[in-house]
Order: sequence, then C-alpha cells, then structure tokens
Amino acid sequence: MAKLRHELRRARDRIELALFTGAPMSGVEVRRALEVMAVELGGDEPRRIDELGTLADGKGSRADYRDRWGVAGVRRFVSAGGATIYLLAVETFPDHVNNVYLIREGNKVTLYDCGSQTATSREDLRRAQQVLHKVYDEPLGLDDVSDLVLSHGHIDHFGGVGHWQGRGVRVHVHEFDARVITRFEERIIVAAMQVRVFLERAGLDERTRAELEQMYVFTKSLFKSVPVDRVLVDGDAINGYVAHHAPGHCPGQVCLQVHNILLTADHVLPRITPHQSPESITPWTGLDHYLIALEKFRHIGGVDLALPGHEEPIPRLSQRIVEIVDFHRARLEKVRLACVQPRTIAEVADAMFGPQPGYGRLLALEEAAAHIEYLSRRGILEIDNLSELTHVANPVLKYRASA
Ligand SMILES: [Zn+2]
Ligand SMILES: [Zn+2]
Repeated sequence: MAKLRHELRRARDRIELALFTGAPMSGVEVRRALEVMAVELGGDEPRRIDELGTLADGKGSRADYRDRWGVAGVRRFVSAGGATIYLLAVETFPDHVNNVYLIREGNKVTLYDCGSQTATSREDLRRAQQVLHKVYDEPLGLDDVSDLVLSHGHIDHFGGVGHWQGRGVRVHVHEFDARVITRFEERIIVAAMQVRVFLERAGLDERTRAELEQMYVFTKSLFKSVPVDRVLVDGDAINGYVAHHAPGHCPGQVCLQVHNILLTADHVLPRITPHQSPESITPWTGLDHYLIALEKFRHIGGVDLALPGHEEPIPRLSQRIVEIVDFHRARLEKVRLACVQPRTIAEVADAMFGPQPGYGRLLALEEAAAHIEYLSRRGILEIDNLSELTHVANPVLKYRASA
C-alpha cells in the first residue's frame, strides 16, 4: 500500500505540474493514468483525481483545487499573523517523504527542515521552486532563504543542510541535537557503542548484534559534519517564530510556532506514532520525555492547525495528542502482559511486532525497550535475574511484571 501511495503521488505530481503550467491534457488521459491507483488506495484519492480530470477538461476552479489539494506536492497555508507557509513534499529517501516548510512573511524567508542529500530530494526542491513561482505567483522562494531551522537530528530532516550552509543561510538547531550536525562522526561512534551495549542487554545472539550494529552505522554514515550558526533553547525565537523544545522522539527536537500554526516535525504525526527509543541509548529520548512534551502541546494556546514533518496537516492537534497517548498506554499494557513470564527485550519485541527484517528489527527492539524502560522506572516491571547482575559485566536483562 505504501508503495502504491508513492507511485500515485509521483504520477499525480507530474500531471498536476503539467496541467498547472499550461501543458494540454484531457480528462480521459488524467483518469487513465491515475484512476486505478486512486480507487485502490481509497479515502480522498478518487475524489481528487476526479477533480483533476474535470480541470483537465477545462471545467472547475483551478484556485479551488490548488487551495484544497496543493499542486505537485506544494500546499499553501496562511497564518493569522500574515505569514505564508508552504508545505513542500520532498522524497528524501526512496519512498520516504518529508514535509519541508518555507515560511515567507514580508521579505523574510525562513526554512524549517531542508531535505536530504539525495538527487531526488534536490530535484523535488527544484520542482517546488518552480511551483512557487508559476502556480502560486510567489515572488520569493528557496533562493531567498535567510534562516534554516532544523527540527531535529534525524538525517531525513537535516541531511541537505550542507547545501544551505554553503550558501550562507544561517542554520539553527536545538542545543541537544547540534552535535549530530557539527560532530557527526563522533556522534555515530558513540551511538554505535551505546547500541552495542543495548543489544547485548536485550538478549540477541552475537551474529544478529553484529549485523544490526553494522546496519546502524551504515544507515547513518552518509553525512559530513557542518557547522551551525546558532544553538537553540526552549522558547528562542527565529524571525519572530518560537521554537518549542519537544524531546522524546529525538533529544533536541523543536516544534516551530508561526502565529496560530504549529509546525510539529516528528513530534506529532497524523497517522503513525513517532518512533520511540529508550533513554538508556540516548538521553532525552524515551517515553517519559515524549509524553511530557506531548502534554505541553495539548494545552498550547492559540494553535488552530498543526503541520507535521510527514503526511498531511493535523486540523485538531489536541485530539491527535490524546490518540497518541492512548496508543502508548495500550502498548504499555501489552508490554506488561508480555512480561507475566520473565522476558528479555528481544522476546518482548518479538511478541509485540513479530519477525522484522533488516533495520525494522532494531526499530522494534528500541520501541519495546522504550516501553519497558517506562514501566521499570515505575516498578511495574522488575528485574527477574538480579543475581546475574552482581557478577556479569553486561548481562542480558530479564523483566517480569511485578505482583
Ligand atoms: Zn525523526
Ligand atoms: Zn521524520
């Protein structure tokens, strides 16, 4: 399904761009290219393709279509304070799409996240630039960016930073994630060491551990360190927009508030729940920080719309936060029940997520461990093999639900 979603997106982007920049095409052609995929995906997709077909036939309102769906991955929002925010959908890794945001207020242009280093990412940004000028009549654009705010230290969000920094754009990142950008090599080696310790404790055999560690290093080794211009703390402002610290998914994630619109990056997503990893691997990640930071945004005043780092806008932020909290509460209970018999982290991950190929295995282990950590901090889980801990250097930990 995910693959199909991306195929439809790519085909639709091409057609929208053609239609909105004056290339002739008939409704029949539009439907022939997109309808089967749209029907299979369901939801709003068939209606959107129908509207696009109508436009191709020279009927319907282009402006309405543009404002409802966007064009070729570019959507426009206007804040109560008069800032124009463009969501630019960028494929940062194969079939992985990030939302980059360009905020224009007067002649100030701020970028929130910046795409990756891949050719597709650069190509998508070039196309977005074209759409800004030709479809939205936007006089300013990516060439006019003065400040880049990195939402957090995950490579799909910051990988392309070198390009912007090289052009003299001021780079801002939270103090807890700055070293991921500025001392990347150190960060990878230290993190790999923490992961090695974690995997040993989680109860995996030596071969699997070596494979996962190698995979971890490999997926993260594609970046060269870049200096940053400013490290942020909670509440700092960039061009008048407030950076709110939102740790948990990543130590130094910041959500950016543009008047009544909150850019939430990976802190709140509309469909998936952001990946969790235990604080034992990286401080300021973990479910405790995450839930505290969620609570903070549930009560944030004056926000009418949330725009996430992936997927579509979130019209009701508080409601989505409640759903995410409920999801983790249910998952915590599942983990507790899985530990009625003493279990290792690996066993809990298998019980929760089943067999996972490749990198998915590491993600499943981290996700399980984040929940186990939360429960053991509260004494809801206890260590079953305490006697081993007294004399083994890094023993496999077994957890048991407390009576
Ligand atoms: Zn992330
Ligand atoms: Zn992300």
